[in-house]
Amino acid sequence: MKTISNIAMNTFVKETGGYVAAQLEACTRCGMCADACHFYVATGNPEYAPVWKIDLLKRAYEQRFTLSGKVKLALGVDKPVTDEDIQKFSKIVYEACTMCNKCSMVCPMGLQLGPLIHEVRTSMSNAGVVPDDLMKAVNKQVEEGSPLGVTDDVYDDRIEWVADEWEVDIPVDVKGADTLVVFSSIEVMKFPENIAAIAKILNTAGEKWTLSTAGREVVNFGFYEGSEERTKMFMQRIFDAAKELGVKKIVVTECGHAYDALRWTSYNMMEVPAGIEITHIVGLIGEYVRSGKIKLKAGAFDNGVITFHDACKIQRRGGHIKEPREILKILAPNSFKEMSPSKEQAICCGGGGGVIAIKEADPVRYAAFELKIDQMKAVGADAVVMSCSNCRLQFTDCVQHFNLDVKVKGLSQMVADALEER
Ligand code: SF4
Ligand code: SF4
Repeated sequence: MKTISNIAMNTFVKETGGYVAAQLEACTRCGMCADACHFYVATGNPEYAPVWKIDLLKRAYEQRFTLSGKVKLALGVDKPVTDEDIQKFSKIVYEACTMCNKCSMVCPMGLQLGPLIHEVRTSMSNAGVVPDDLMKAVNKQVEEGSPLGVTDDVYDDRIEWVADEWEVDIPVDVKGADTLVVFSSIEVMKFPENIAAIAKILNTAGEKWTLSTAGREVVNFGFYEGSEERTKMFMQRIFDAAKELGVKKIVVTECGHAYDALRWTSYNMMEVPAGIEITHIVGLIGEYVRSGKIKLKAGAFDNGVITFHDACKIQRRGGHIKEPREILKILAPNSFKEMSPSKEQAICCGGGGGVIAIKEADPVRYAAFELKIDQMKAVGADAVVMSCSNCRLQFTDCVQHFNLDVKVKGLSQMVADALEER
């Protein structure tokens, strides 16, 4: 019978190769991963512990592949997974996990918990048990090319408006350009000043760049959903545009998950066009500063206390840890202060992984952000800077929700405002 539990369990079984089995066998249930998870720490809810989030995967493996699991099931010591279990876990893995992967860093047995939880999302996606808000955004991206309704026409109008409003050249669909820049619809709709800022930086550095109308959306809601089919579909649009324009480089702007999908995950699931480098805007800006292609006014933001929020997918996963710090040490040499923990060990903002798109996740999302409030208070931050527009959306919303006296800033914007004329 095709129940959602059957479909989900069959996906687990299909995905459980030797590597996954070895990881599941290795777990000693020590619980160390729990203290790494902002959702667990903020709420104390044991169902938010990372090891619990993979429990269905573990049960599927034990019940289908191990003798002890089969015996326990036959004797009634363990119970078959039910549709209710699947519904309950769907809420846990979509609403209380940002796929930040901090838990993987602390597991003494080396379990890659983030990717394992992604497998759980994949099984939920196959079984059709994805939160409505998230699924609506996925369907919008399938049908309109963007989860926020940025159709071809909306995109063209918006880019033209940004170019006029900020008086900056923004090339679109230029064949033969070296670099394709792909923004997220969060930037297009919520932070258009980011587009102007990045355009100004690229123009000042002398980059031969272009946007693409067909490959205009870097956000990947298929990746949040855990659907391989839709993850690939959204990346394919960008790769096709890159091939059509003949570029040598794709630059992902301020979206961490999109960077993870395009820069790392794509190579494991599809054919990535050869000879095209994929990088993140913060890496490129760092390169411009190091090489002298752009020069920044030293001390341009040196007042109050400025701290930096590391995005899980850009800094922890993507490795762009040094560049923001090198830039902030130029812009705010006396004002820049690190939160603790930071860099690879940073605490997630609580809004990534599609969580901010799910209305029902609001209480847990706000609860998780309280850890960031504590961190910012500890350094006395007047401003917090970041390089991910999804984090920026979460910070902007939470600053308003908690009525905080902290300015939320985008790193690209600060760089653009501090550019020395060439
Ligand atoms: S830290 Fe690793 S070994 Fe310990 S409970 Fe979590 S997943 Fe299992
Ligand atoms: S990936 Fe992040 S949010 Fe998800 S369980 Fe691990 S620590 Fe928690």
